[in-house]
Amino acid sequence: MISSLSGSSRVFGIMGHPVRHSLSPAMQNAALQACGLDGVYVPFDVRPERLGEAVAGLRALGVGGVNVTIPHKTGIVQYLDELDESAEAAGAVNTVKNDNGRMVGYNTDGDGLLRSLAEDFAFSPKNSSVVIIGAGGAACGAIAALCRAGARRIEIVNRSVDKAASLAAAMEERYPGTVLAVTGFGTGLAPILQGAGLVVNTTSLGMKDETIAGLEPEALHHEAIIYDMVYAPPVTPLLLEAQRLGLRHANGLGMLAAQGELAFRIWTGMLPPRGLMGRVLAGISAQ
Ligand code: NAP
Repeated sequence: MISSLSGSSRVFGIMGHPVRHSLSPAMQNAALQACGLDGVYVPFDVRPERLGEAVAGLRALGVGGVNVTIPHKTGIVQYLDELDESAEAAGAVNTVKNDNGRMVGYNTDGDGLLRSLAEDFAFSPKNSSVVIIGAGGAACGAIAALCRAGARRIEIVNRSVDKAASLAAAMEERYPGTVLAVTGFGTGLAPILQGAGLVVNTTSLGMKDETIAGLEPEALHHEAIIYDMVYAPPVTPLLLEAQRLGLRHANGLGMLAAQGELAFRIWTGMLPPRGLMGRVLAGISAQ
């Protein structure tokens, strides 16, 4: 790929701190190559206090676009010229496009989740009833995308109930077509789960073998889907439980690939070959 770079190569990248564990360079470079595009995608390790300079640098150097990851997803907003509805609703940016010097922020996490659910389960959010575990950045993106796609009801279950309540109120104001409700952790969740078609874990619980207090998937309908945004380890205790009960389930690798595909389309106008990014990620996570 490097040997094919030229004087007119476009540069893309990811800004985070730290960024060396990111899987995005592998999947984005594979996509550039597969689409025959003259470009390269590189990691940029940017300290929070230098974020403003970094964005000015992207503009000055004509970098085509970047992904944005922890800890910059909200901090970068103040340095951008415009926010797409996806980023404004989520209150966070994971993709920036340099549109002739105008830096535009997007959030492809939520639509990435929906794309993964559509591809893996043919799930349509229209009129659905969804339980979202968590009320952080990943939850905001997911809830906003579900509301835009016509979800009927979303129940947010979170440790900090106040935080979930503010999020629910903000989303209901923006998307009045969806009913939002809030429940705390630890209380019996069975009545909420009974009517749900989809449960999404947006917390980091499961990365270290933790279970989610009060979440008993036995209460779910047999056609319900359990989606865990965690992808390392590939099988969390929640997914193990879904497996045991014979429920449809997936980890967050599909979403990671899909948010990358949507970012790639924002920058290049093209989608990578179907399944390519997912195969790259699966190859890395199997190592
Ligand atoms: P965040 O903004 O820090 O939010 C963390 C959420 O997890 C909050 O709701 C927090 O509850 C909850 N939480 C954390 N530790 C907890 C504990 N010990 N007990 C109960 N609740 C706990 O983080 P984020 O950006 O939303 O990311 C969350 C997870 O999603 C991460 O694991 C991240 O890797 C994953 N993610 C995956 C993808 C993907 O493509 N697959 C994309 C984005 C994020 P409180 O509000 O009570 O603190």
